[in-house]
Order: sequence, then structure tokens, then C-alpha cells
Amino acid sequence: MLGAGLMGRLLAVQLAQAGHPVRILDASGPDGQGSAARVAAAMLAPLAESAITEPCVVAMGQYALGRWPELLAGLSQPVYFQQNGTLILWHRQDAHEAQRFSALLAATGRTLPSLPRPEALSGARLAELEPALAQRFHQGLYLPDEGQLDNRQLLQALTATLASLGVTIEWHSAWTDEQALTHQRQHGGWVLDCRGLGAQPDWRALRGVRGEVARLHAPDVTLQRPTRLLHPRYPIYIAPKEDHIFVIGATEIESSDLSPASVRSVLELLSAAYAVHPGFGEARILELSTQCRPTLPDNLPAVREVAPKVLQINGLYRHGFMISPAVADAVLEHMHHGSAVLAERLSLHFERTENTAQAALVV
Ligand SMILES: Cc1cc2nc3c(=O)[nH]c(=O)nc-3n(C[C@H](O)[C@H](O)[C@H](O)COP(=O)(O)OP(=O)(O)OC[C@H]3O[C@@H](n4cnc5c(N)ncnc54)[C@H](O)[C@@H]3O)c2cc1C
Repeated sequence: MLGAGLMGRLLAVQLAQAGHPVRILDASGPDGQGSAARVAAAMLAPLAESAITEPCVVAMGQYALGRWPELLAGLSQPVYFQQNGTLILWHRQDAHEAQRFSALLAATGRTLPSLPRPEALSGARLAELEPALAQRFHQGLYLPDEGQLDNRQLLQALTATLASLGVTIEWHSAWTDEQALTHQRQHGGWVLDCRGLGAQPDWRALRGVRGEVARLHAPDVTLQRPTRLLHPRYPIYIAPKEDHIFVIGATEIESSDLSPASVRSVLELLSAAYAVHPGFGEARILELSTQCRPTLPDNLPAVREVAPKVLQINGLYRHGFMISPAVADAVLEHMHHGSAVLAERLSLHFERTENTAQAALVV
């Protein structure tokens, strides 16, 4: 397994739990410093994201929402997970943004009728759902069932679970596909390349989409669920974690630049958050972080079998947490049964070679 970010750790745990020997290498360290997964807000919001993505990603997100509780239950440490829905807000002058957004959700509802319907909120209903925001906003949209989890707790719990299964990760070991292939020729087994943007030398079409986030501690703010502010220039989300920790994000810039967050981005993110709740004025800035989302030209995830039993799994873009259980299940189905029923059902792009004969699952 190359890469122990989100996808690599998730797949490795499931393979190890099924009793397969697993070897994992990661270019960075155990805190996930080299991964997009460490910085992410980890919202699981297929309906909200349907405004900017394809129905197949929404379908993967809906499938994954059902899988996360099962996956988390199998880990050796608890991970904060909630499914209280998503709240969508806008300032009065941006009502046209809300109309546009609602029209996009309505189109998604027609394509995927099994998705829960958004609920238009009156001021009274908003006050019931999210009392802390009722003074500033008098309408909104509620997207039921959507979820979120704590990304850093998840990374830690996956590593701890691997350790409990006797699997250690070889940190600070940057490998190329060529090295992995040479290793495979000598030792057999599968190679799963989950290096995110680190796979770019072997998958040229990959690009980075830079995202900057602020992590705040705001004891004066209590929110029950992720909140998104629609805005023509500064759309933001506020994702509440445990103990009044909030992730405010995120910029979306076509660049692989990993340098620290810019003043402009931070001003925009924090001003928009302050406009949602004045309690953010006294919040403490714990962290300003930058990472790049690993993205393919169509902004969709893909799995490529570049040689027999050598899979590249990538392009999770801004949806890794939302869809990774679906992508992982499709990959595992392919490895165990040589079939792609789930991938086809979810329209996950899966390029396969003919020679997929099964062999020992040594990863
Ligand atoms: C600001 C931001 C906010 C986000 N918010 C959300 C969200 O709310 N919801 C959501 O679903 N998704 C979100 N995402 C997206 C999500 O984080 C990514 O889609 C996901 O992390 C991709 O997983 P991955 O395993 O493919 O890559 P990564 O998580 O980036 O992991 C790649 C791993 O490969 C390792 N690696 C790199 N090169 C090598 C090498 N040569 N050899 C060995 N190892 C290597 C790296 O060290 C890293 O650990 C967000 C991302 C960002 C940046």
C-alpha cells in the first residue's frame, strides 16, 4: 500500500481485518501532515455537494453515509461522528444565490429520487434547529441526514486499529510506482497506490486544488451541525467538532501551492464566519492550514489497474471523506471477486486490464 492518508488507511484496515498481510508506506508522518485528510473539514454532505458535482459522486456519498457507522464501529478507538444534517444560510441581499442553489438541489432530487428532500426553514423553525443563529438569519434550508466526522480522530483510530492488528506503517518512506512494481515482482501480491497528489509523477493528469482552512476554538459558539453560507464571492462552511472546535473553510484555488494561507483568504474566511455568528470574534485561532485536493480533469474519482494487481486509486478531490467507503468497497470487491458490480452501480470510473486473475492478497 502506497500512501497512508485517508484512502490508504481505510483500505489497509479493511484488508487487515479480513486477515490479509498488509505493508504500508507513507512519505510523511503518522499525524498525516502530508495528506489532504488532515486538513479537511470531513463533512459528509452529498446533497449539499450536488450543487457542484455529478450525480455519481452524490450516489457514492449516499452509499458511504450508510457505511461510515459500520466502519467506525470496527475501529479500536472512538471517532466523533454525527448525522444532524446540513444548514444552508444566506444574507438577505444574496437571495438569488439561494434560488440558484435550490434549483440545483431540485434537479438532483429529480435525478436521484431516493435522496432526502431539503426543507425550507422559516425563522421559527430555524430558531428551533439552530438557536444560536436565529437572531441574524430568518430563513434557511435544512438538508436532513447529512453527516460529518472528526478527520484527525479518524486518522488516529485507523492507525491504532492497524497497530492492534499487528500492522505498522513505514513512515517517511516515499515510494514510486516503479519501486512498488519491482517489489511486487519479487514478492507477489497487490499494489494499491493511494498517494493522493503524491502520485502525480505516475498519473500526470492529477492536479492540486488548493484549500485553506482555519481551525478555531470558540467557547461562545454552539452549533449542532455543519452550516454553509451561500455568498457570490465568499461562500464558506463552518464545521463544528467536539469541544467548541470549528473548522472554517475553505478556499478553492486552482493551484498545487502548499505555502501557508494568504492574508486575503484568511480575512475572507474569518469575516464571513464572524458575520454568521459574532461569537467567533472572541474565538482563538488554533491553526491556519493549507492542503491540496488530489483532483483529476473531470473532478471525479477513478481507479486504474495499470498492471495486473496494481491499482491506482485517486481523484477524490473535495469528497474523500464523503465517498471513500464507497470507493474502498468497490476496490475490495474487485480484489476479492474480480468483479465491478458496485463500481458499475455507482458509476465509479474503473479502468481494468483483462488479466485480473485472483492471487494471494498481499498488499
Ligand atoms: C481544505 C480541504 C477541505 C476538505 N474538506 C472535505 C470535506 O469536508 N469532506 C470531504 O469528503 N472531503 C474533504 N476534503 C477532501 C479530502 O481530504 C480528500 O479527498 C482526501 O483526503 C483524499 O484522500 P487520499 O487518501 O486520496 O489522499 P491524502 O489524504 O492526501 O493522502 C495521501 C497520502 O499519500 C502519502 N504520499 C504522498 N506521496 C507518497 C509517496 N511517494 N510514497 C508514499 N506515500 C506518499 C501522503 O503523505 C499522504 O499521507 C477536503 C480537502 C481539503 C484540502
